[in-house]
Amino acid sequence: ETMKQIIDAEAMKRMITRLSYEIIEKNKGLEDVVLLGIRSRGSDIALRIAKRLEELEDTKVPVASIDITAYRDDKKEDTTYSNQEAVHFSITDKKVILVDDVLYTGRTIRAALDAVMDLGRPQSISLVALVDRGHRELPIRADHVGKNIPTAKSEEIVVLLEETDGKDGIYLK
Ligand code: 5GP
Ligand code: MG
Repeated sequence: ETMKQIIDAEAMKRMITRLSYEIIEKNKGLEDVVLLGIRSRGSDIALRIAKRLEELEDTKVPVASIDITAYRDDKKEDTTYSNQEAVHFSITDKKVILVDDVLYTGRTIRAALDAVMDLGRPQSISLVALVDRGHRELPIRADHVGKNIPTAKSEEIVVLLEETDGKDGIYLK
C-alpha cells in the first residue's frame, strides 16, 4: 500500500485559517455560532477552528463533541457517550456548525442531524468537512470544504492530527 501526501502540516494550518475566515464571513461575525465536532477527529478539528476563531475575532465560540454511532442505521454499537452531557450549552436558536474530518456517503452527517435535533432546535445547521472525497449517497453537501479529493471507493483518506497522531497531514492511501 502506498501513502501519497496531499496536504502537509503548513497547508493544514492555512486550511484551518481559511475555514475559520469563511465561518466568520458567512455568519457576519460569530454571534450565535456554536461548533459541534463529530467524534473523534471532527472534535479535534472543531477545537482547532475554535482556537483560530478566538485568535481572529477575540471571541470564544462554544465548542463540544457529539457521538453519532447510536444514530446510524448501519452501525449498532454500544456507546456510553452522552451528547446531552457533552454539549454543555443550549443549541436552541444557535447557528450550529458541524465539523467532521472526511465527508463520504453522507450517512454520518444524516445521523448527526438527528443527534443535533435531539439536543434542541437550532436556527441553522451548516457543515465543515476537512476533506470531501465524493461518493455521496444522500442529498448532503458541506458548506465549507478544506479540500476536495476525488477518490476511488477502494482508496482511503488518512487524516493525521498532531493531537492524536503526533503530526499533521492528509494522505491518500
Ligand atoms: P460517510 O458517513 O459520509 O460515509 O463517511 C464519513 C465518516 O466516515 C466520517 O466521520 C469519517 O471520519 C469517516 N470516513 C469515511 N471515509 C473516510 C476516509 O477515507 N478517511 C477517513 N479518515 N475517514 C473516513
Ligand atoms: Mg469519523
